[in-house]
Amino acid sequence: MKKSTELDLSEFPPGTITEYSTLVCLACIFDIFTKQIGLAPRSAYSEIKRYSPTVAELTSPKAVRPFFDSEEKHPRCPYCNAAKRWHARLDTHCLEGGKTTDAPRRKLFKTLAKKTEQFAIVEQKSDRRTALFNWLDTLRLTLDLDDSGWLLEATKAFLERKEPKQDWASVFEGLRAIRPSSRLPEGWERDGVRLFLAPALYNESLLVQYLVSRSHVHGGLTLEGRLTLLELLRRMRKGGYLNAHGIEGADQFELLKRLIDEVAGSGAVKLYYIVDRREFSEKVKAVYAAYA
Ligand SMILES: [Zn+2]
Repeated sequence: MKKSTELDLSEFPPGTITEYSTLVCLACIFDIFTKQIGLAPRSAYSEIKRYSPTVAELTSPKAVRPFFDSEEKHPRCPYCNAAKRWHARLDTHCLEGGKTTDAPRRKLFKTLAKKTEQFAIVEQKSDRRTALFNWLDTLRLTLDLDDSGWLLEATKAFLERKEPKQDWASVFEGLRAIRPSSRLPEGWERDGVRLFLAPALYNESLLVQYLVSRSHVHGGLTLEGRLTLLELLRRMRKGGYLNAHGIEGADQFELLKRLIDEVAGSGAVKLYYIVDRREFSEKVKAVYAAYA
């Protein structure tokens, strides 16, 4: 089902938004409300219209009834086998609160305040570490780890998050390689098809690549090849990153934790979930008409 109007999020830098999408089976929901709870179809309908899924239900990587995920064109509900006309897609956009997003967010929410049936807004207090891991989980899903191009994609995504004001899409256009720079004390520089990153920035991008691809046995794949955690830490120690950020200690997992805090930033952050309920509302109406 094509949406008539997309939600305009163009004023938000790509690194500040996380997208989630899930399917919900309305046959299952009607079943729960009429058979399990025992409501008449009419009351079930008015309950379902108001029904507002929780953030956990909307963003969980493992969907549970009545939610499911499917990449198929004509999926069937895995719980009750209902066909596509019984399904509704729920898209959720998560905005991270902060300096770069506060002004456009207020503007956007003002327009959404008039459309409470179509869009639900849920605010949640979180911390930067959780926000980073949410972001990493979503990033992992959008990358094809079997295609070596993902290393550039992951680095671009990290830079979009780190410096949201920069237009990284243009910087990465036609880019072939990313290298650490021995001259740049900070920042980055593009030279032909190569992007040079200051050592600290380069090391942080290795950490992100490691976190995206790590497995317990083989370590993670990075621009420097496959690295175990020890090898990654050794690199960061040698490059002076650990010293510069006052990170010391012997335990590798403790060091990793400190590194992640360094990249994530510390403190609280507010997350704003915008739930696009348009398809859900339309389908509920259509399904009720068929049901009653
Ligand atoms: Zn179902």
